[in-house]
Amino acid sequence: MKIGFIGLGNMGGPMAANLAKAGHDVTGFDMADVTIPGVSMATSGAEAASGQDVVITMLPNGAILRSVATHVLPAIAKGAALVDCSTVDVDSARAVAEDAAAKGVLFVDAPVSGGVGGAEAGTLTFMAGGTDESFAKAAPLFEIMGQKAVHCGDAGAGQAAKICNNMILGITMIGTCEAFALADKLGLDRQKMFDVVSTSSGYSWTMNAYCPAPGVGPASPADNGYKPGFAAELMLKDLRLSQQAAESADADTPLGQAAMALYEQFVESEDGLGMDFSAMLPRFEKRGRG
Ligand code: NAD
Repeated sequence: MKIGFIGLGNMGGPMAANLAKAGHDVTGFDMADVTIPGVSMATSGAEAASGQDVVITMLPNGAILRSVATHVLPAIAKGAALVDCSTVDVDSARAVAEDAAAKGVLFVDAPVSGGVGGAEAGTLTFMAGGTDESFAKAAPLFEIMGQKAVHCGDAGAGQAAKICNNMILGITMIGTCEAFALADKLGLDRQKMFDVVSTSSGYSWTMNAYCPAPGVGPASPADNGYKPGFAAELMLKDLRLSQQAAESADADTPLGQAAMALYEQFVESEDGLGMDFSAMLPRFEKRGRG
């Protein structure tokens, strides 16, 4: 396939490289001066999008996606597909889907989980929203860049799935960290705490697969000085998107709101910026109730 790829950062770079490695003809564009193995670079987004079968975007946020879409949609051929893999607000995904439909361009919102490691290894999970026809067009590319793609529903459904998943993730990470900090103060050994919880009803991905306590459970960012992994500021971004969506859908999400407030404080007023999101544990460790 002929593919345009716009946004070649930490995630987009390796995703585009994997598509090129699989034999696709990939033309990329990024505002920054980047070089990606196997990818020829265009001088604008519109140039990267023109004449392609599929155009993929991997951008920081919804406002940037909307602005890029405004520039590139006129360059995309009718019947070709725009596949946005960024994590953005549901409203932006739906707005771009509408603009695309008006121009006869297929659209899929397909945010990912799996992080930079998953992008490099080609093992991402895609959560996709769009018509059956749009999803079918993008599916062979999801197979190269990832190991699983779930067609969640119409446009916006991929973003909805992503922010609901990450709202659970943020809440359970905080729960796991505060329980470890309480266990510490009760004199409970962390390994014993892990042995019990990971096989009891408190088990979760954050405990079993990504344990925030160094030296306990499988290797995780906690064992590497809390270097991300999944940065606390990216968790904050996703929690903010969940609360923006909850507001616009009138959904009551008190724990999502509390998790957002806590990550906001951690990233903006404490030392969470640049740390993995599991660094909530050392944060709780240092504190008392007051
Ligand atoms: P990044 O900042 O490394 O990459 C974004 C790229 O977009 C940059 O290279 C930037 O120069 C480029 N860009 C910005 N504006 C542009 C424009 N107008 N035209 C062309 N290029 C432009 O970010 P990332 O870590 O690659 O994340 C990208 C998206 O993936 C985000 O929405 C993020 O939330 C999501 N995501 C990231 C991770 C992760 O672990 N990093 C995991 C899952 C999802």
